[in-house]
Amino acid sequence: MKNSNQHRLLRRQIRKYLKDGDQVPESFLEAINEAYHSFDKDLRQAENILELSSKALFVANKELKRKADSKAAEADALSERLARIVNNVQEVIFQTDLNGCWTFLNSAWERITGYTVEESLGTSFTDMVFPEDKETSMYHLSELVNGTEKTSRYNLRYITKSGEIRWTEAIVTLDIDAEGRLLGASGTLTDINARYVAEEKLRQASNNLNQAQTLTKLGSFEHPLHAEGSSYWSGQMFKLLSRPGHKQPNLEDLLTAIDEPHQQRLRESIIALKEYSREINMEVPVNKGSAWMMVRAEKQKGRLNRGDVISGTLMDITQRKSFEKELIASKLMAEKALAAKSEFLSNMSHEIRTPMNAIVGLTEIILREEELSAQAKRNLELVEYSADNLLVIINDILDYSKIEANKIDLEKIPFNLRKALGKLLDTWRLKADGKKVALKLDWDEQIPETLLGDPYRLNQILLNLISNALKFTKEGSVTIKAKMQADLGERFDILFEVRDTGIGIPESKLKSIFESFTQAYTDTTRNFGGTGLGLAISKRLIELQEGKIWVESKVGEGSSFFFNVILGLSTDGLVETPELDTSVSSNLNGIDILVAEDNKVNQMLIKQVCKNWNANISIADNGRIAVEKSKVQAYDVILMDLQMPELNGFEAVEKIREDDANLNLNTPILALTADAMPETKTYVERSGFNGYVTKPFKSESLLREITLCMESRAQSK
Ligand code: ADP
Repeated sequence: MKNSNQHRLLRRQIRKYLKDGDQVPESFLEAINEAYHSFDKDLRQAENILELSSKALFVANKELKRKADSKAAEADALSERLARIVNNVQEVIFQTDLNGCWTFLNSAWERITGYTVEESLGTSFTDMVFPEDKETSMYHLSELVNGTEKTSRYNLRYITKSGEIRWTEAIVTLDIDAEGRLLGASGTLTDINARYVAEEKLRQASNNLNQAQTLTKLGSFEHPLHAEGSSYWSGQMFKLLSRPGHKQPNLEDLLTAIDEPHQQRLRESIIALKEYSREINMEVPVNKGSAWMMVRAEKQKGRLNRGDVISGTLMDITQRKSFEKELIASKLMAEKALAAKSEFLSNMSHEIRTPMNAIVGLTEIILREEELSAQAKRNLELVEYSADNLLVIINDILDYSKIEANKIDLEKIPFNLRKALGKLLDTWRLKADGKKVALKLDWDEQIPETLLGDPYRLNQILLNLISNALKFTKEGSVTIKAKMQADLGERFDILFEVRDTGIGIPESKLKSIFESFTQAYTDTTRNFGGTGLGLAISKRLIELQEGKIWVESKVGEGSSFFFNVILGLSTDGLVETPELDTSVSSNLNGIDILVAEDNKVNQMLIKQVCKNWNANISIADNGRIAVEKSKVQAYDVILMDLQMPELNGFEAVEKIREDDANLNLNTPILALTADAMPETKTYVERSGFNGYVTKPFKSESLLREITLCMESRAQSK
């Protein structure tokens, strides 16, 4: 074997162990040499592989490091992101240890409680809980620990750092590790203060509404008008209609609860509501009339884009209905009583007036007799005075009762106010002159002479005031003033004043004298007569004419009564009453008068009066006889009593005026009546009569009326 081919390790072994001369078989050396070479080869190969692996390991290691670095950065970013999210959420996210002390809180904690996270960590979770709610949170925690609940959810109040109370909702779960060991608790706290307060307010409002509905027995409802949709009834609705509260109501439930025929009417009203939006306001009976309800409903736009709804209320009006019934019954009773009273007074006055007619008439006739002794004359004059007074009282009482029964109808006719005042003063002049009292008229030229109103009632008021003024004035003057207070266009506000220089009225009585049956002094009736009704009647009559009455007075100096009334402007011409021709009395000489009168004393009285005028008298005992007589003889004038047996005055006149063949078809007919009310006068004039004389009458007034009637008839011929 060549040396050069020998492996260096073999060479070193041969040098180390073989001495010169040692014989080693060549093949053995060659085998070892080859083994060394083959080992070298393997070693080189192994070294190669090792180098390659170490290179790969290095690369892999580098890659791993890079990956690890990037994962760590990612983890950092994630945890930063998580921290941001955790701190940004509105809810408090918390964790506690086993002792219930905060181990984690996000920054929402600070926003809600005002405490910083740092100062709170380590403190007990119950420290800031509102005292009354501590028990609640402990209870829920124990439920968790006992395993009754997995998560508990409850509301509790916290006291903030500034001392305010805040409502929160807590959601709590227990923290348990993989081995089942309890670590503590974690969860969230949500600030529900605003929601809770709003809900509380809503609850309160709803409670109030329910309470109000219960108290007023009022229910509310809402039903869809067209489309399908849910209906709503308040709790009170179910109670009012005795329906089970759990049932979902519908419009049909409401309708069928109502008794017929109102149910049908309400159905029709709902159709009208649908089609014409006509509101419903209806009183309906329910439960066979045992209760009454008021249904009010209207169409309203449905909320949240839902179709139109019928929205309304139902109110229990059973009690009101029964009151109403009672009220109507008592009103009817009161009206009946008032009518009865009015009729009684009217009859009474009629009954009193008829004999009064005899007293007044016969006294007048006897007073004319010349052979009377002075004493008898004085006595008779007293009888006449008393009878006159009695008549005033009767008239006042009758008037007052009519006013009380609201039975006064005011006229609206044209009249000359200035002339009316003039005439009124003329009638009182004699009395004034006798008392040395000057009677004056102060007229405002701005007042139109012809006005529209009720001259009779105005006359009555002035007559009462003037009569009082003269009654309570011994000397001095009584002045009647009429002044235009305001021109209201077609209407005028006229102010009247009746001023006297009489005894005056104490201040304390200035108001009460306008009340019925009230006089300023207790001895007034004794000294001056009167009933204390005049001013009360005047006041009501003035108020009916949209006016007021008041008085200014000083005791010992005199009184001024003021009143105003609203009068219209008359556009129609005034029908002037013809002035009386005083010579006419002689015209009654020989005329034929038919007198229909059932009262024998009155028959006698009229006969005597007419005898003085030389007229021919024919008496009919009742209306029927008068009609018979009117068919066979033409009379110049007919005097007709209104209340007679068989046929009364109105019926008799109707028969005469309706019969074209009647000889007295156009004969003037005068009503003779004991009913002195102005209404009767108007009614009489509309019923075919030509005039009107109230009983008791003085012969001049009868003469005057007969003459006026005959004259106007002569003029119209
Ligand atoms: P009567 O005159 O019938 O008593 P009135 O109602 O007319 O009833 O008057 C009520 C009271 O008012 C009179 O009684 C009187 O006391 C007082 N009174 C009315 N007018 C006058 C007046 N002009 N002067 C003084 N007192 C008067």
